[in-house]
Amino acid sequence: MGKVTGFMEFERLEEGYKPVPERLKHYREFVVGLDDAQSKVQAARCMDCGTPFCNSGCPVNNIIPDFNDLVFQGDWKNAITVLHSTNNFPEFTGRICPAPCEAACVLNVNDDPVGIKSIEHAIIDRAWAEGWVQPQPPRHKTGKKIAVVGSGPAGMAAAQQLARVGHDVTLFEKNDRVGGLLRYGIPDFKMEKTHIDRRVAQMEAEGVVFRTGVMVGTLPKDSKVTNWAKETITPEQLQKDFDAVLLTGGAEQSRDLPVPGRELDGIHFAMEFLPQQNKVNAGDKLKGQLRADGKHVIVIGGGDTGSDCVGTSNRHGAASVTQFEVMPQPPEEENKPLVWPYWPLKLRTSSSHEEGCVREFAISTKAFIGEKGKVTGLQTVHVEMRDGKLVEIAGTEKTYQADMVLLAMGFVNPVASILDGFGVDKDARGNAKATTEFTNGYATNVPKVFAAGDMRRGQSLVVWAIREGRQAARSVDEYLMGFSDLPR
Ligand SMILES: Cc1cc2nc3c(=O)[nH]c(=O)nc-3n(C[C@H](O)[C@H](O)[C@H](O)COP(=O)(O)OP(=O)(O)OC[C@H]3O[C@@H](n4cnc5c(N)ncnc54)[C@H](O)[C@@H]3O)c2cc1C
Ligand code: SF4
Repeated sequence: MGKVTGFMEFERLEEGYKPVPERLKHYREFVVGLDDAQSKVQAARCMDCGTPFCNSGCPVNNIIPDFNDLVFQGDWKNAITVLHSTNNFPEFTGRICPAPCEAACVLNVNDDPVGIKSIEHAIIDRAWAEGWVQPQPPRHKTGKKIAVVGSGPAGMAAAQQLARVGHDVTLFEKNDRVGGLLRYGIPDFKMEKTHIDRRVAQMEAEGVVFRTGVMVGTLPKDSKVTNWAKETITPEQLQKDFDAVLLTGGAEQSRDLPVPGRELDGIHFAMEFLPQQNKVNAGDKLKGQLRADGKHVIVIGGGDTGSDCVGTSNRHGAASVTQFEVMPQPPEEENKPLVWPYWPLKLRTSSSHEEGCVREFAISTKAFIGEKGKVTGLQTVHVEMRDGKLVEIAGTEKTYQADMVLLAMGFVNPVASILDGFGVDKDARGNAKATTEFTNGYATNVPKVFAAGDMRRGQSLVVWAIREGRQAARSVDEYLMGFSDLPR
């Protein structure tokens, strides 16, 4: 424990943001991280509790009190060793994790939690700057060949773990660049893509072979999921060529809103809109990019994806941005004695909301209206919760003007045809069916085929994808070698 009285002496210090007018002009990151001195003070607030709830609140079980102590002592090099022992990519989570660890921090019971995420961010950025993040190629090769399908955080974490214990890993990705939703989905202003490129270079040096633009199996003809594949490989071929296959293809099937008028022009899935901006930022030339310039934009869906649509629309120069959420507005503050150490339901205002957005809660869209085949508005009604069901409130019908509607209501499940191509059983929600048990975890019903990340657990978080990738890697290693030294 760095400083015994630190939690009584020092206040929580938030990372800063560049001013709104400045950051709206570009797509680069705008968070101002803590400097060394500020990180030390923040780390001094850690109480090194006997039972560190933060450690179990973090899905990858980061050893938080230990790295806090090391930062307080100024031992940044050992801090990154501790952090990397549980998390392959702290620069991803240090930027975009919602930080359930902080909700679980014991200081959060009656004070502000330790700024764990900002310390994680500072450790990994310093480690890259100092040149401490180096490839860790294996000392021995096993001769076993593994195919990982899908290069999001789950696939990347699994591939890195498996390559480091000497397996020949090939990572297949249907899109033209590596990273899954980190690359195409999450806006550059939340996480710049150089962070992925650096890891790809590290993993290549560790022996991972990346094959982008390769679709494993088939998508339905009318599918709207991102796909820049130039080549196809059948599941049968993959099973023949590799000793094990790990499916980490995400949960890409967007939830639709099949109300009257859905066919009108100007209504798009968030995942049609956001990846296009990622591509433009990467220097690609797109014909007919979906843009919000001068438009009245309505985003349907109050989560992260919706908030990312708000931030991107404002950068395009939308005339107005309104976000709908069907659930009632949550309280501004949680009831801590009731919910700690769990993730609380409370009103969350993102940096994108602060950039300009009207937020409507408890609102349901009944129909889209339009002229000459183009959307011009939405017919809505307010709803309320009665006996666990959302019911319409008579007399609250309203029409909103809209030139562009973005559907950001989450994802229902993985694309079924990909799982069907392998003959993988699905659970009741349509995800790949596999348990996370210690023995045989992540194994599907098909011999030598495993599944992890959003493809197995459904739409989730980057930190959960990293955890599943790491754990699945151990399971695959154990299956191939009869034992595994990889951590779980
Ligand atoms: C807009 C948006 C914002 C988000 N913001 C956050 C956030 O701020 N914080 C957070 O923690 N989480 C966030 N999430 C959720 C997070 O991105 C996901 O939970 C996470 O990326 C899941 O990782 P994954 O590796 O399981 O799958 P994915 O990241 O979805 O990657 C799957 C990859 O597999 C590829 N693939 C699929 N099928 C095939 C196939 N048959 N052949 C070849 N390749 C295939 C896909 O092209 C994709 O690249 C956000 C999600 C979205 C959509
Ligand atoms: S990965 Fe997320 S939950 Fe874990 S320590 Fe970092 S911010 Fe907290």
